[in-house]
Amino acid sequence: MRNKTLIIASIVCAVLLTAAATALILQYRAGSSGEIEITLGGETIYKGPGTSAETKYIDIEGAAGAVRVRIDVEGAAVESSDCPNRECVKMGYLKSKYLPIVCLPNRLVIRYTDADEDVDAVSK
Ligand SMILES: [Zn+2]
Repeated sequence: MRNKTLIIASIVCAVLLTAAATALILQYRAGSSGEIEITLGGETIYKGPGTSAETKYIDIEGAAGAVRVRIDVEGAAVESSDCPNRECVKMGYLKSKYLPIVCLPNRLVIRYTDADEDVDAVSK
């Protein structure tokens, strides 16, 4: 009898945890659907939607070579790059407004434009 209660309690806990996690993920995703900005050496070279129904490519000539940024239905990602370690390509899609895609050798940054506003709101 005691065991049964324990099992039911742990199932309820697991369900609640899953629901909470799902809600968090959904909120997180909804928060990252804004506009993106691509900067090269501090200069903005692209500003616009972070997703595109039709896949589009932005070719950039960075300090370390050519970079191709892809924007599709899933988001923005570095498709290919001539930089030495290709960390930017490995990062995949831009997921969080707090974690920009950075290519240090090319001085390239892809980030959500509302990231700064959010940081300001928190520090006030
Ligand atoms: Zn890179």
